[in-house]
Amino acid sequence: MKYNKINNFEIALNVNGSDQYTKVSYPIRYGVYSEIKTKDYIYQFNQNGEIRYITGKNGNWPNPLEWLKRTVANDWVYYSSGGYAGLYSIIGEHYYPCFSYSSNSLLRSNPFENESVKDSINSIEDLLEEITEIKNNPLIDNETSLFLEKIVQYNKKTCALKSHKFHTIIGGRVSVLPPDSRHVDYDVIPVIISDGCLYNCGFCSVKSGQEFCEREPDSIIDQIDNLKEFYGEDISNYNSLFIGQHDALYAKTDLIEHTAKYAYERFGFKESNMRNSKIFMFGSVESILNKTDADFKRINSLPFYTYINVGLESFDQETLDFLKKPLQKKLVEKAFLRMVEINRMFPNIEVTSNFIYGSNLPENHYSSIMELLREKVKRKYNKGDVYFSYFNDGGDKGKMQREFYNIKNSSNLPAYTYLIQRL
Ligand code: SF4
Repeated sequence: MKYNKINNFEIALNVNGSDQYTKVSYPIRYGVYSEIKTKDYIYQFNQNGEIRYITGKNGNWPNPLEWLKRTVANDWVYYSSGGYAGLYSIIGEHYYPCFSYSSNSLLRSNPFENESVKDSINSIEDLLEEITEIKNNPLIDNETSLFLEKIVQYNKKTCALKSHKFHTIIGGRVSVLPPDSRHVDYDVIPVIISDGCLYNCGFCSVKSGQEFCEREPDSIIDQIDNLKEFYGEDISNYNSLFIGQHDALYAKTDLIEHTAKYAYERFGFKESNMRNSKIFMFGSVESILNKTDADFKRINSLPFYTYINVGLESFDQETLDFLKKPLQKKLVEKAFLRMVEINRMFPNIEVTSNFIYGSNLPENHYSSIMELLREKVKRKYNKGDVYFSYFNDGGDKGKMQREFYNIKNSSNLPAYTYLIQRL
């Protein structure tokens, strides 16, 4: 990496990070970014000049292998490497994303209470002030000057306004991203084709409360066009979509297919800095059962590898009733078997499932899931992850962890816990 030294800064422009998402136990950056190093911090910026990552360099920073990432929705996420034994076997990742908002995390410590983490976020305003003072220095080369000109536009206020604009374009916040989007470090462009869901379950904390409703095709085209403009130059660092919201699979296959193809072309995914485009979406028991082989064949032919995450929650009728999920166990089983079948039939589609875990759920909840994952799947497969989403019922977390490990160790499908990340 070549650095230019300007005053107290070392600046590197257009650095090439990795061109594919990788699970590694050290800091990694993706796509093309620029960097400013100071005595205390490493700041990294996206192609638009917006702050994307901060790493602390002084002795107060919790761990030199950890960092902060800012999402397109202007949320900070802290990537924690430790303090949690067996992290990879629990979440399938080497880093635990800690959010600055409440979620279903099991981590007890909150890095956003750490003074040096707070200071690093506050330091951006000082950095921008200093840059404003030096950016017109005639000794600075043109390219660096243009970069500095870009980054000073994105202060605390303009970043907040931009995130507001983002939510206006997609028609509201994404309350939860599918767990599978961890495979692209949650770097997805959301395109919302439907709102609401079929069940409006009593236990669910992320639902909108609306009935399921598809959006008009013309409004989806407008949304994609506006997103293209919104992401600007940094769109070249993206190659994956979240097709939302809570049950996009229930939308007509025509709508899913046209949206994916139009977005692929419009966002220029073929020329992206990142390889291997992916789609992430949610499905439901009904949507997975309603779609025919012909529908999945069309999804399988898209220029993406598609992950569909289906909320099953439980395989025990008493628990389904307790959660106020209006479904019969028989139908959950049918959907699960169909998911296993789709995973065998279509090489470019991976259907994954969600179950709830909590410490005060009815007695048969865990044993019935164990039966489902062992008896109904005859041998080990590495496709079709099963996720467990923590249901905070105020009980014994240790007991819950033991139940999770019991299931994980006996399951014929990979099992992980699921962190609710918003956008
Ligand atoms: S769990 Fe899924 S189907 Fe149930 S309310 Fe939440 S989003 Fe809707």
